Amino acid sequence: MIIKEDNRVGPAVCCECGDDAKINDSGKWYCGMESELGIFNIKGYCIKKRKKERKNKNDKEKKFKQSN
Ligand SMILES: [Zn+2]
Repeated sequence: MIIKEDNRVGPAVCCECGDDAKINDSGKWYCGMESELGIFNIKGYCIKKRKKERKNKNDKEKKFKQSN
């Protein structure tokens, strides 16, 4: 469990979707986190936003395939 230290800025919620945030990355809270190059390079991201982007990408690819 991650301790939410910075109570002064209010409840820690994801800046994209408003869910409970897990990590503060460059001053912004995110509901998801990932590590690119191991534990010392953890980045925050919004799980919901990413899902949406993936879906949009898939939809575009589908349309492209259908039109050919
Ligand atoms: Zn989020």
